[in-house]
Amino acid sequence: MEVRKAIESFLQKQSYPEFRPRAVFFDMDGVLYDSMPAHAKAWVEALKAEGVSFSEYQAYLNEGRTGHGTIDDVFVKQKGREATEEEKQRIYKRKSEIFDGQGEAGTVADIEQVMACVSQAGWLAYLVTGSGQPSLLDRLEHSFPGMFVQKRMVTAFDVKFGKPHPEPYLMALQKSGLKPWEVFVVENAPLGVKSAKAAGLFVFAVNTGVLRREDLYEAGADVVLDNMKELATVMKAL
Ligand code: MG
Repeated sequence: MEVRKAIESFLQKQSYPEFRPRAVFFDMDGVLYDSMPAHAKAWVEALKAEGVSFSEYQAYLNEGRTGHGTIDDVFVKQKGREATEEEKQRIYKRKSEIFDGQGEAGTVADIEQVMACVSQAGWLAYLVTGSGQPSLLDRLEHSFPGMFVQKRMVTAFDVKFGKPHPEPYLMALQKSGLKPWEVFVVENAPLGVKSAKAAGLFVFAVNTGVLRREDLYEAGADVVLDNMKELATVMKAL
């Protein structure tokens, strides 16, 4: 089985003794909530209002960065300078308003099957997100009752660097008190995959958006899957 091979190669590369999951680190956008189309649209419009052109595909490629990080990145590329604090706040506020104006994003298809696997296996779920979007963070308990509690969350409010830096996943690892071979990550974005790999973790990338599978393998994903149903099937066999 391809997954088994990926695990063997991961253990060998990292010199870890075994793969024995006790927790799952979940990214939020594009993994728990089908919020990426709305995020992408909001980024395109908020940046356009500042005279900065940005495509939806770019929004998907940048997914996982903090809002301010995304703004700085595009400003450096197009204006040759970082954004001022005022610009960052104005753009991010506008982006959040446009995002919220599009109504509630649903959960990702079949994510409940994945959560059922987590519960059945007795694993703990952690949230590791670059998002600071209150409209989604506040809904977690409603959408996934009992799965995500504050002490098992790393969000935009906790980190200094954000993805693709390993910091968010290292922070989650530290909170969990677990070894890196006792957790695995579920991501959908290249920068999120890079962050988790830099933290030395095993990553299932689920391609829930518009990217090419290669974008996720090139970022270092151990296994790329097409949907949550596939992930649930694979998780049952771990
Ligand atoms: Mg994501």
